[in-house]
Amino acid sequence: MMNHLPFENWLLDDIDLSDEQKQMLQSHLRECNRCMDLKDRWLQVDRRLQSVQTTSPADGFSARWKAGLDARWANLHHQQVHRWLFILSVLGLLTFSLIMINILRTTSLMDWLFAAFDTVSGFFDWWDQLLQALFSVFALFPPFVSMILTILIVSMLCVLTLVWILSLWRIYRRGNYMV
Ligand SMILES: [Zn+2]
Repeated sequence: MMNHLPFENWLLDDIDLSDEQKQMLQSHLRECNRCMDLKDRWLQVDRRLQSVQTTSPADGFSARWKAGLDARWANLHHQQVHRWLFILSVLGLLTFSLIMINILRTTSLMDWLFAAFDTVSGFFDWWDQLLQALFSVFALFPPFVSMILTILIVSMLCVLTLVWILSLWRIYRRGNYMV
């Protein structure tokens, strides 16, 4: 009976063999079918393991996971937009009802009109006071600085509006794509 033991270990263990050991192994493999068979099977297993590690299943999984994440993310954005639209419409409705109640409290048509004017002019007063407060803050700075501040604020508002419109557009495009 042949002694297979060192050769089996050499085949299965992932170790570097010396040139002498390699020659011994080759000559043993030429004589021994059992070890040759073991070598072939081990090579097959090794190849399969490597293909499992490197190829498609992992890629497919991560791609699917990423797609799911994108969908969830888009869905979240969608929900947020809807929530904000809902809040804004509720606020608008509340303001409208308050104005209507304020008008309806009074009786005659003239009173209605006056109340409406009051409400509108009250709003403009508030707006006026806000502007005056802003200008009084601006007046603290030298004119050059306040001019730069004005330009900065206006351009910032423009950029913010642009970003807002862009993101809304992107969200709605993505939403349509999902549906
Ligand atoms: Zn053998």
